[in-house]
Formats: sequence, structure tokens, C-alpha cells
Amino acid sequence: MSVLDDVLATWEPVIGMETHVELGTASKMFCGCSTVFGAPPNTHVCPVCLGLPGSLPVANEAAIRYTVMIGLALNCSIAPWCRFARKNYFYPDMPKNYQISQYDEPLCVDGWIEIDGERIGIERVHLEEDTGKSLHVGGATGRIHGADYSLVDYNRAGIPLVEIVTRPDIHSAEAARAYVTELRDILRTLGASDVKMEEGSLRCDVNVSLRPRGSSVLGTRAEVKNVNSLRSVERAVRHEVGRQAARLEAGERIVQETRHFHENTGTTTEGRSKEEAQDYRYFPEPDLVPIAPDPAWVASLRDGLPELPSVRRSRLVGSLGLASSDVDAMTRAGVLDLVIETVALGASAAEARNWWLGDLQARANAASVDAGDLGVTPAHVARVCALVAAGDLSATMAKAVFDGVISTGSDPDAVIAERGLKQVSEEGALGAAVDDAIAANPDIAAKVRDGKVAAAGALVGAVMKAMRGQANAATVNRLVLERLGVADG
Ligand code: ADP
Ligand code: MG
Ligand code: ZN
Repeated sequence: MSVLDDVLATWEPVIGMETHVELGTASKMFCGCSTVFGAPPNTHVCPVCLGLPGSLPVANEAAIRYTVMIGLALNCSIAPWCRFARKNYFYPDMPKNYQISQYDEPLCVDGWIEIDGERIGIERVHLEEDTGKSLHVGGATGRIHGADYSLVDYNRAGIPLVEIVTRPDIHSAEAARAYVTELRDILRTLGASDVKMEEGSLRCDVNVSLRPRGSSVLGTRAEVKNVNSLRSVERAVRHEVGRQAARLEAGERIVQETRHFHENTGTTTEGRSKEEAQDYRYFPEPDLVPIAPDPAWVASLRDGLPELPSVRRSRLVGSLGLASSDVDAMTRAGVLDLVIETVALGASAAEARNWWLGDLQARANAASVDAGDLGVTPAHVARVCALVAAGDLSATMAKAVFDGVISTGSDPDAVIAERGLKQVSEEGALGAAVDDAIAANPDIAAKVRDGKVAAAGALVGAVMKAMRGQANAATVNRLVLERLGVADG
């Protein structure tokens, strides 16, 4: 048992996720500035998003529409009436000294999302504006502490941001990752966001606490920030569980605080102590009218929702003939679309599944990357499957082909040509090798003739060896038995 297993025997992790998603609208939340990523600093700004005195915000309808769609996809109730609120704080990345957000009147409440048959409650989905981006220059860490100076870019300030908050219903690192994976798929399906964690368009805060197994009381949580990939979600939870268990077992208390996740070490370090809602002096935003979504409009958005990932998965279970647990596993591993494409290119669903969830997944795990980033494409897998089915490659050779594809970036046919990986199935060539093996091993051949069929394995082995592993083993086996007058099977 690993150390973590020991911890988990005693303590139950309790996890709640806050996910911020930049919506894919063309313009910002309260002004007409562009939202395009990567422009030179401070070129997508105007008096509104710079917070200049006298400027007034106007809400972006497309952002409200996306937020309602997200709420509907997450089984939320849509508020008949809600308001924006000012969240007051002073920080250079927020030029108004307040963020327009939603507080006690969010647009969507009380939903759920189902992960592997378990429901995770969605507390709220609300709309706010993103902050600018600070760049801390000098110092080792890129953080404000120890920096020589800081720069700020307001291009991001005012981009519509949806916050999706779960109830503390998640109980493992894997489930936390699965939740973000599913949420990301839903958002992508809705077209609401490009959900690029590496560009910050989807960002997670991971709240973690422990409680003794069997207890129903919540422990004190730490809120981990800077969790920028799916793998980091899992690692951050693992680290927090270990850290908190060690403290609790040493008789210490958990401090409620925000913590910073470090990608390079997989650890968290303490950040600021957690502020309370009252510190933000929330009050209703006086410069914006309330939102009262027309029920008919909400109904039309509900009718127009695209097929959601969970529905698509159940449909695929039927059409691909795979077990729903397989389809769930593919979703978790992020290979479902790769499998579907591989099947569309002619592979059988079972073979496509075996490669993407088996050998290729193992290689991806070993390299700490996603299977989709190995450099192997559905076309490669489909080609290899076709060659195996035709008897041109053995399973072992197929793996060698993927070795070559991954290490050289060439396609399977190039690797096969270069490495001479071709299985011989042609009976003339194999028959000659079988005759040689029988002639060289008369004792074994006699045993087989006398009915000891199992002894034929040694002859097959001799042929395989003579042909340096490139013979089609099934054909060789059949030929050996035929030559020795024993019926196959
Ligand atoms: P804040 O803005 O203070 O972080 P929110 O209500 O926005 O508060 O988010 C709190 C998040 O923390 C939610 O996802 C909630 O489920 C989660 N949470 C609350 N209490 C606990 C706890 N004891 N352990 C783990 N997660 C918790
Ligand atoms: Mg929070
Ligand atoms: Zn602007």
C-alpha cells in the first residue's frame, strides 16, 4: 500500500471546485473591446475596461446567453431575475478597484453533473468580468515576492468570465480530474469557450479538506490556486491530501487559506489567508439594469442545446458496441474522440479501444503526457489495425511500429519499410521454413505425429526463430499440424 492509500483508509477527501471560464464572445463583458488572445499588451482597452471616470458598462447579451446555456446544460434553475454586484478590492490588475460580478443573485443555481454514475452538485453559475494580467519581472519565481517590478496588461480585463461552483461532493483526485474533464467537454460542446487551460481560458481553484471516514462534518479547507492542467488538478489534490493528513495526524489544525500550486514540484505553498465575503463589501451594481431572462427565450435556448457529451456517450455505447465503462474510461483518458476517428477510418471498435486504452495509454502515462500528444494519430492506429488484420504485422511488430512512429515522427508505413517489419504470411515461404524445422527436429515431429499435439509449439518456435519473429504464427502453427497429419483445433 502506498502512503496515500494509508491516508485514504483513515481520511475522506472532500473537494469542491470553482472553475472560471472565459467565454468565447467576440467582445468584452461591458464594452466593445476585442477578446482575442495574444495581442500586444494594452491594445484591447477603452475607458470602460480601464475604469476611467464617467464611463458606463453595458452588458454583453452573448455572454448572458452562453451563461444561461451553461446553466441549462448543468441542470440548473435559471433565475427569473438577477443582478450584478460590485466586489470591491484594490489590486493593480483591476483598474476600477472593483470587479463586476454576481453575489447573492447568480444567474443559475442548483444544478448537477453526473460523473461515472455519481452526481456532483452545482451550487451556482454566475457571470463576471476577468481581471487584467500582472507580469512580475525579476526574481526567481515569477511571483510578486522578490520581483524587481511588475507590469500589467489590461487586454484581459473585462473579458466575460463564468464561474461554476460545485458543492463539496467530490471525494478523490481522480474524480476531481474527471469533473473538470467533463465540464470542459460540455463547455466545448456548447461552443461557449475554447477551454484552453494552457492559455488560461479555463482555470480551476481546488478546495480540499479532510474528514475522518464516516464523519459527515466538513473539515477546514484549503483553496489551491494556479492549477492549470487536468493533470495538475489530480496532483494538487493528492498533495493536499497528504499534507493535510500529516498535519492532522500530528495534532495540528488546518488553516483556512489559499495555497499556490507549483507545476514543477507538484506541491502547494501557503498564500494569503482567506478573505471573507464581508471583506469585499459587495453591493448591487448601480450602473447596470437587472437581468430578467424571458422564460420563452430560456426555453428556446434549452431546445437548441447541442447533444451533450453524456448523451453522445450513451449513443456511442450502442453504435460502437463497447461497454459503457469502456466509453467512460475513454472519456477520462481523453481518447474517446481518437477512438471514434480510428473506427471511422476502418478499425474495429475493439481494436481501437485496445490500442488507445492499452498500449498507447501506458506509453502516455510513462511519458506523463496525454495519449493524444504522443504523436500517434487515429490514421496511424487505423493503418496498424488494418495491417494486423491482414496478417502483415504481428501484435509485437505493431508495438515496434508505434515505437518508431513515436521516436521518429514518421508514419507506420515508413517505419515498417525502414525497419523491415513485415510479417510473412505467404504460405510458400512459410512452408519451406516449416519443412526445415521438421527435418531439423525429427524427435519432436515424431511426438506430434503420435498425438502429442502440444509438442508442435517447439516447431512453431523454431520457425519463428529462423524467420526472426516475422512469420505469421497462426499460419505456421496450421502448416506444422498439416504437415504432420494432425487436424488443427
Ligand atoms: P470562496 O469564494 O470563499 O472560495 P465559494 O462559495 O465561491 O467560496 O466556493 C467555495 C468552494 O469550496 C465550493 O466549491 C465548495 O463546494 C467548496 N467547499 C466549501 N467548504 C468546503 C470544505 N470544507 N471542504 C472542501 N471544499 C469545500
Ligand atoms: Mg474561492
Ligand atoms: Zn474596453
